[in-house]
Amino acid sequence: MTILVTGAAGYIGSHAVRRLLADGHRVLAIDNLSRGHNRAIELLSAEAGGRLTFVKADVGDRATVEPALLQHGARAVMHFAALTYVGESVDRPLDYYRQNIAAGVALLESCQAAGVEKFVFSSSCATYGQPPEHLVPILETCPQHPISPYGRTKLQFEHILDDFAESQRRGGRSFGFACLRYFNVAGCDRTGLLGEDHDPETHIIPSAIQSALGLRPALSVFGTDYPTPDGTCIRDYVHVEDLVDAHVKVLEALRPGERRAYNLGIGRGYSVREIIASVKRVSGRDFTVREEPRRAGDPPRLFAQAEKIGRELGWQARITDLDEIVGSAWRWFSRHPKGYKP
Ligand code: NAD
Repeated sequence: MTILVTGAAGYIGSHAVRRLLADGHRVLAIDNLSRGHNRAIELLSAEAGGRLTFVKADVGDRATVEPALLQHGARAVMHFAALTYVGESVDRPLDYYRQNIAAGVALLESCQAAGVEKFVFSSSCATYGQPPEHLVPILETCPQHPISPYGRTKLQFEHILDDFAESQRRGGRSFGFACLRYFNVAGCDRTGLLGEDHDPETHIIPSAIQSALGLRPALSVFGTDYPTPDGTCIRDYVHVEDLVDAHVKVLEALRPGERRAYNLGIGRGYSVREIIASVKRVSGRDFTVREEPRRAGDPPRLFAQAEKIGRELGWQARITDLDEIVGSAWRWFSRHPKGYKP
């Protein structure tokens, strides 16, 4: 099967491409390289045995995407391409609506023209906003009230997929989709080939590792007076390889006309202080931690109830030990302190 992977040069997309190639698929990879890395594509191409085609394009560019889908006979899509920063989305909401919504709609038009039958969408726990404490751990049925433009783009695209699938069903065409609501994705490919290289880096594990490597003067912790055991926020960190494995299971299971939504997390949380302690332990290095006031919109505890996908598809996160998750990231970052740059 040929699968279109959008955002293939990014962190999660590149890991997905590698897994699909390892499973014997052909991959059509599209990325506009606005945030992704050509080096990741080079590394993947080197081991793809000719089964990877990379097209540098915007997913909203129908004139390029549609013929590429048709030419390669891709009937399944994993859609990772998006702008992904909550803070940036508050400052530049229109960029987020253009990239995450308008370009996504154009991608669906290309999919319709090319007869795509299965579509897996990278949604986010940001669609749940700030759920009340009694709804944590979060079920898929938790009301979705995003509090940032980023979260709203993810929720709106879920609705767009719903409406599109319904129109396909009524038109007698087969189209099934799944919205996978990731919690915090973490870690790197454990063979050390692929990594996580965001600029700017805002995720806590890579930021702490950069501090351990002396690439940041200090690590800021926002809020130490939350009603949690150690006063810092608690989040759910799912390893990128487990996350990709869930995509593979979902794609296999998805039948025409189906709509599915799953949370992807490990079902337990780790606090910011636990992350810092793990990075110090794994790296064997100390670094300065600066305690700062809380940031607006950060709920104290956010972690998934991810049993639905386990029950229905037999998926569960296998890499749940924090030091193992951090260790996979440390291995890549310590060998590639400049990320994918030479
Ligand atoms: P990333 O920035 O590393 O990868 C996104 C890739 O998409 C980049 O390579 C970028 O160049 C590309 N891209 C962006 N807009 C594009 C467009 N219009 N056309 C073509 N390419 C485009 O981000 P990531 O961390 O790998 O995230 C992947 C997906 O997972 C995103 O949809 C994100 O919202 C979602 N997600 C990520 C996390 C996380 O913890 N990393 C959590 C929840 C959801």
